Amino acid sequence: GLILGIETSCDDTSVALVDRSGHVAAIKTVSQYEVHEAFGGVYPELASRAHLEAILPTIQSVMDEASATPKDLTAIGVTRGPGLIGSLLVGLSTSEALSLGWGVPAYGVNHLRGHIRSVELEDGQTEFPAVIMLVSGGHTLIADLKDPWSYRLLGTTRDDSVGESYDKVARMLGLGMPGGPAIDRAATLGRPVLRLPRPMKNEGYEFSFSGLKSSVARHIENHPEVSLEDMSASFVAACLDVLVAKADRALAECKPRSLVIVGGVSASPQLRDAMAQVAGRHGVNLCLPPVKWATDNAAMIAMATWDYIERGVQPALFPKPNLSLETP
Ligand code: ATP
Ligand code: FE
Repeated sequence: GLILGIETSCDDTSVALVDRSGHVAAIKTVSQYEVHEAFGGVYPELASRAHLEAILPTIQSVMDEASATPKDLTAIGVTRGPGLIGSLLVGLSTSEALSLGWGVPAYGVNHLRGHIRSVELEDGQTEFPAVIMLVSGGHTLIADLKDPWSYRLLGTTRDDSVGESYDKVARMLGLGMPGGPAIDRAATLGRPVLRLPRPMKNEGYEFSFSGLKSSVARHIENHPEVSLEDMSASFVAACLDVLVAKADRALAECKPRSLVIVGGVSASPQLRDAMAQVAGRHGVNLCLPPVKWATDNAAMIAMATWDYIERGVQPALFPKPNLSLETP
């Protein structure tokens, strides 16, 4: 059987078909980049309208590509939060209609659980217990997992997420959007010459990134002689230093079998290298999503849906814009 995954929480309409082993039979993601470019952020009303236009043709094209019929589906899995309410509603109401029309159950899925299960796509296999770090556009958190279902949140950010600070620093440096990959590229050409703060590095599991961002802004103003490559390299070094310190602490205290790093920032090659070193030092298995599925996509939502089915969770198709990690 296959899961039809549907992701419309923000500005991408994504649909995928995924089997139990994590093989992606088909996937299509329609970006709304051009719709929102002029606003410098996602414009919620326009996002839901664009989802509405894209959703049915995208589902059709994914079903066609895999030569799948409704009979091949074990379930539909659709993001129910966190995200923009209007955008979530497009995916949810479409799934409800298809569920009724096709006679296939539909599950509302937590987007954050989707990110966490993205490491199972293709050949990944998380061994439990695991420590997970979610570093995305909207979240920065670290948690301890007994099994795929039971989370213990260790800490989260008090202000900006890592992804957000990459994006803001990229904008300050005139690197455009999305900021993460642009900063990464610039950083590989520079040297970390600036002394930037490492906020909360030595304190527990909480994060704070807004001070680091402001510090970069001050350096840009006071040190125009420093190249944007060196600025980027200094910023990335500071971020990684903090993230690695927290991962190191969690591995020492929780003694898991795997370290799972997910979310858009986990696409960063520097982050991957740094985490490989920490995992190696502690002798744990490092689990990362395939780079193309580190950012939002429906394949991870479909993958996470298998957990809901196997746990016997009641399908819930109402939106939860501020859904937290602990809630299904
Ligand atoms: P959330 O899942 O928390 O609701 P989101 O879905 O908006 O947030 P993602 O799609 O997981 O977030 O990640 C987007 C973020 O990842 C952006 O901030 C982007 O800059 C960052 N990012 C993407 N690629 C890279 C990269 N190669 N290096 C660093 N950051 C990256
Ligand atoms: Fe996301």
